[in-house]
Amino acid sequence: MDVRLRHAHQRPLQEHTPVARPYSLITGKPMNIEWSANWDDNLGGNSELLERDVILRKVQEDVKMEFERTYMFYVPRICEHCLNPSCAASCPSGAIYKREEDGIVLVDQDACRGWRQCITGCPYKKVYFNHRTGKAEKCTFCFPRIEVGIPTVCSETCVGRLRYIGLVLYDADKVLEAATEPDEKRLYQAQRECFLDPHDPVVIEEARRAGIAEDWIAGAQKSPVWRLIHDYEVALPLHPEYRTMPMVWYIPPLSPIVDEVTRSAGPATDVESHDVLFSAIDTLRIPSAYLAELFTAGDVTIVENVLKKLAAMRSYMRDINLGRDPKAEIPASVGMTEEAMYDMYRLLAIAKYDERYVIPSAHVEDAHRLEELATDCAVSEYGGGDSPFGADSGRGGPVPVAIQSRNEIAKRMSADRMGDPSDRSEGLTQ
Ligand code: SF4
Repeated sequence: MDVRLRHAHQRPLQEHTPVARPYSLITGKPMNIEWSANWDDNLGGNSELLERDVILRKVQEDVKMEFERTYMFYVPRICEHCLNPSCAASCPSGAIYKREEDGIVLVDQDACRGWRQCITGCPYKKVYFNHRTGKAEKCTFCFPRIEVGIPTVCSETCVGRLRYIGLVLYDADKVLEAATEPDEKRLYQAQRECFLDPHDPVVIEEARRAGIAEDWIAGAQKSPVWRLIHDYEVALPLHPEYRTMPMVWYIPPLSPIVDEVTRSAGPATDVESHDVLFSAIDTLRIPSAYLAELFTAGDVTIVENVLKKLAAMRSYMRDINLGRDPKAEIPASVGMTEEAMYDMYRLLAIAKYDERYVIPSAHVEDAHRLEELATDCAVSEYGGGDSPFGADSGRGGPVPVAIQSRNEIAKRMSADRMGDPSDRSEGLTQ
């Protein structure tokens, strides 16, 4: 047992919960924190926040804020590793870049000059400033793990097994057109149109011509993310109206529905029947209009279609689990076959580890380029050097991680100019 844990177990019972006193990283003095990101989140935000909530302002007619009808749900926001990252566009030093080989958006710690424009520029507020190092830091999508085919730490440790990771092929030439789509409500569709079907022979041929390895093409074909976005059409982008083309997509939640229906329809009604569930979707505790503002730039129809699919899956699987004959009309009512509905259930409810994370590892021929990138982007409390994702992270035995190049670091440290992202494309030359 860890020594600190043993001490904690053996300590006599204390009157108060131990807390770490906060100190300012700027002045080094104790401070009284009165505000931060996510302040009062568990209370649904304080009254000041509620009044300033732009989405709530749009749908306030639909939302009742009496205490007994308060609802709460969490949207775990991580960096979206956008196709059109506004953090990168707003960086005066060119320190933020999107990796060509896997789309991960990173901050080059050498090139960052602490302008902090990225912090304002990211509409999801996913860049943080390290006052100790004077550099911007953000989610690295655990790239040393991804490179060797291991999921990100947040995915692997998610108790609810909510997160999925997979490849999506896209047409980079269509990104600009999609991001500038004039109709906000078409942005979701415009982004989907950038994605390429990995089963399409023309796409496979083009991918091969572009040098994409066979195991990556196979990975894209098995991608759970592609299936959720394209096959079942239940995953949606977060705030498409920001036009950053986010690449972390969400399945909107089906909030508690049965109590609501029982209350209005009476106990004699079969509240799990798909007809009843469908009719109740517009009385959900999380209003569809609110979800639409989060995921479809306000298009309620798309969100309602997703919620109907989830409700249909629940009703269809209930019959199967109770030993009744499954009803083909339930999937048909939401435009799905029985097989597709069962597959969606498998993926969402009982998928195994290797179905939830389909991550082909990086290729050895890219190793030099990747090892140079790895030296640039370590996120650390103290800046540079020690990555929090150590060699044993997530597995019992040693895991091969990208190795830093000593020569390259020495060259950079003695250079009289700051790092230039164009240096990276040539890879390691020594
Ligand atoms: S979410 Fe923000 S930090 Fe992440 S890539 Fe998009 S704009 Fe950049």
